[in-house]
This record gives sequence, C-alpha cells and structure tokens, in this order.
Amino acid sequence: MNAACDVAIVGAGIVGAACAYECARRGLRVVIVDRDTTGSGTTAAGMGHIVAMDDSEAQFALTRYSQKLWQELRPELPDDVEYEQCGTVWVAADDEEMQEVEHKSTYYGERGVTAHVLDEKQLRTLEPNLRSGMKGGLLVPEDGVLYPPCAARFFTERAQELGTRLRFGVSVGHIGEGRVTLADGSEIRAEFIVNAAGASAPDLTPGLAIKKRKGHLVITERYPEFVRRQLVELGYLRSAHSVSSDFVAFNVQPRRTGQLWIGSSRQYGAEHKEADHHMLVRMLQRAQEYMPGLGQMLAVRVWTGFRAATPDKLPLIGPWPGDKSVWLATGHEGLGITTSLGTARILGNQLIGTKPEIPIEPYLPSRSTREHVHA
Ligand SMILES: Cc1cc2nc3c(=O)[nH]c(=O)nc-3n(C[C@H](O)[C@H](O)[C@H](O)COP(=O)(O)OP(=O)(O)OC[C@H]3O[C@@H](n4cnc5c(N)ncnc54)[C@H](O)[C@@H]3O)c2cc1C
Repeated sequence: MNAACDVAIVGAGIVGAACAYECARRGLRVVIVDRDTTGSGTTAAGMGHIVAMDDSEAQFALTRYSQKLWQELRPELPDDVEYEQCGTVWVAADDEEMQEVEHKSTYYGERGVTAHVLDEKQLRTLEPNLRSGMKGGLLVPEDGVLYPPCAARFFTERAQELGTRLRFGVSVGHIGEGRVTLADGSEIRAEFIVNAAGASAPDLTPGLAIKKRKGHLVITERYPEFVRRQLVELGYLRSAHSVSSDFVAFNVQPRRTGQLWIGSSRQYGAEHKEADHHMLVRMLQRAQEYMPGLGQMLAVRVWTGFRAATPDKLPLIGPWPGDKSVWLATGHEGLGITTSLGTARILGNQLIGTKPEIPIEPYLPSRSTREHVHA
C-alpha cells in the first residue's frame, strides 16, 4: 500500500503520540507508524514524574512549559492516566545538600515555581518513612506523576479521532526524501517525516548523536501511604549529569494503587533488556539508605528501559540538516514523559510556521552538528 499525507511520524511512544495529536489538531493529515504499538517502548518503562528541572535554563524552560501544558490538559485526561499533582520532595542528606536546597529554592522562586524549604522536622512530618537524620528538603508542590503508557494511548486515540491513520506492528526500514519505507514493502509519502523512534532514532537517521542509557525500575506490592510524594535525592542530578559512569540514585514514587516504583539507575553500554543484577542491588541498597522500610517490602516486578541520551542532555526537536523532509523529536533522556507535550507544541509550531511560546534554539538538531561534546 502506498499512501500520502502531510506528516508521517515514526514511533508511537509518548513523544510521537503527542506530536501526532498536536499535528492533527492543527489540521495536518497524519500517519503514525510503530513496529509495536503505542506506548510500548521506553514510554512503558518510564516513571512518569512530571517535573520542572533546573539542570540548565533550556531544560528548565522546556520542562516548566511542558508541565504547564500537562496542567492545562488535566481536566481532559482519562482516569487511567492517573495524573496526580503529588509534588516532589528533593531530599537533603547533609549540610552540603541543604545548601543545594537553598540554591534550588532561589532558582525556582526567581522563575515563578513555588518551592518550600523543609527542615529536618518538617521533612519527617511529611514523609515519616525516610530515615531519621536527613537534614531537610525542598517541596515542589506543582510537580506530579502519571502513568505513561495510558497517556501515550490517550494522545494516539485523540489523534485518531481527528483523522490520523495508525500503522502498528510494522517496522520502518528507511526514511528520507519524503518517503517512509516499511518492512512489509509499502511506502508512505509525506512532506514531513518525524523521527520519534526514541533510543532507536539513529537506526533511521544515521549520524544522530544519541546513546542508549539503560535504567531499571522496581514495582512493589501495595503499601498505601508509605510514601506520599515523589521523593528524589539531591544527588540525582549528579547521576543524570554523568556522561560516562554507571549511577544509581534514590527515587521513589507512590502510585494510585498504593504500589511504589523504586528507581533509578543509569548505564551506558548495556544494551540488553535483561536486568543487571549488580545495578539492581546498588539501586535498592541506595533506596534503603534513604528509606530502610523498603527492605521489608515485596517487589512484584523489575524492568528496564533505554533513555535516548544526547551529549548536552537536551532533546532534538526540529529539522534534520541531513535531509529536508526529515524532522526529529527524540533525545529526551530521562524527561520525555514530562517534555512530550512541549516537544509536540514546538514541533507543531515549526511545521506550521507559527511562533513558539519558548525559544527553540537550544533544541534544534542543527546544534548537534556544530558541537562535538560527547565523551
Ligand atoms: C527507568 C526510566 C525512568 C524514567 N522516568 C521518567 C520520568 O519519571 N519522567 C520523565 O519525564 N521521563 C522519564 N523517563 C524517560 C522517558 O521514559 C522517555 O524519555 C520517553 O518515554 C521517550 O519517549 P519516546 O516516545 O521518545 O520513545 P519510546 O517510548 O521508546 O517510543 C519510540 C517508539 O518508536 C518505535 N520504533 C523504534 N524504531 C522503530 C522502527 N524502525 N520502526 C517502527 N517503529 C519504531 C518503538 O516501538 C517505540 O514505540 C524514564 C526512562 C526510564 C528508562
């Protein structure tokens, strides 16, 4: 079957699905192709923390913009997306991290994000199952959590209602010069082809500076109220920063079911899906250092996923300099659930030629052909 459309999107993870919905909303004729189904890739492995992050101004701009878009969309989200504005507590283990809390609080405050510095006692009152002796923390009430695969399905269904065609269960072998070639021999012709294939994006666009960065997650049995907010150690950013070493950080999320998701780990060079025992042990030991009670809990499942990591930790959103029909929406590392909405919005702006609401230069793929900062 050969078909023509305005936009062909490869990848129906949360990013591709959000882009499909955005393009369809703007009246474009869209086809979305996935070798599996919607939300089945890294999206199914992600934690779903919707978080304003302050690693860089560009990261803050995209995460905060996206967070606001999630808040606007909230009334329309179906129940199974499980959006909860539970807030984040960044946990400080010592005095040095308390200084970081102050710094973070000022940064957020100057940019209009509400944040409350917690002393040791306030932290214990909010999250009594943290180990005693933690110095304090930072509560960021507007952060939230959701269930990523259902969010991706929601976008796909919305796009479909607006006329988007779905081609699931078929792999894309090649994209370029206005053509998407599928493994079943069919071809889709499109003015714009969006590579939203996540960590597999370089298979379709050779030369993309994206590396797979593996992560593990554990889900427990139900322990309602054991944790009330997304809890993250302040050292998490150091783990996200590292471009070479393997890292673990304390990162626990309460689910609506009463279950807990326990993360997180980061590894380069491990491209098999199976869990790596040594990383799992390190990750769970780290979690128990912060919350000893986790050691008594039953884990029901462990899984892994691959983040699409770029050298400068910012996604690639916009035209690919190597082919004028190819556009990118990939490279979201550990923030693609949060930033899917902002990505879709600024990609839509670029395709249609309307003014984006935030500066888009930091995310343009042309930067990666100018800079060679990969370790
Ligand atoms: C352990 C872990 C925890 C995370 N926690 C968070 C979090 O709390 N908050 C947050 O914001 N982000 C988080 N992330 C990151 C987030 O999950 C990803 O950034 C996001 O899911 C990326 O979505 P995507 O649509 O780009 O990629 P994917 O979900 O991987 O989608 C890509 C799709 O492309 C399809 N595809 C690939 N190649 C082809 C091909 N050749 N032909 C056809 N189809 C193809 C795949 O089947 C897949 O469905 C986490 C990630 C991990 C691993």
